[in-house]
Amino acid sequence: MAEYTKPLPLLTGLSKTFYEGCKENKLLYQHCKDCGEVIFYPKIVCPACMGTNLDWKESAGKGKIFSFTVAYDFAPPEFASSTPYALAVVNLDEGFSMLTNIVDCDLDKLQCDMPVEVLFDPVTPEITLPKFRPVTA
Ligand SMILES: [Zn+2]
Repeated sequence: MAEYTKPLPLLTGLSKTFYEGCKENKLLYQHCKDCGEVIFYPKIVCPACMGTNLDWKESAGKGKIFSFTVAYDFAPPEFASSTPYALAVVNLDEGFSMLTNIVDCDLDKLQCDMPVEVLFDPVTPEITLPKFRPVTA
């Protein structure tokens, strides 16, 4: 594996639980056991009812592209060698959204509402990043 030189997430508190899930190929999100709110990114307090009775669930990892952009140039220095790459907001079927990369595809064919599915990219021994690819029939 080539050395990974891009910025990495810090494993602290709730992010640690999320990334430990990714390492086991599980896309985790939270829900509020008091009001049912679906929560992502991970939080300590429910943004809907301010309750703290939150639980983790595993997403099926399926959703649709809400919006995207393809970076062809002028990427931050750490990402310049990866251009072109796609950044997207994906709406997961469970009702939350996440900012991610779309990979394993022809970037010129990306469209909003395109069905996508999660895949897990182990970029270092400690960190596995969730990314998405178009669902193929
Ligand atoms: Zn709530």
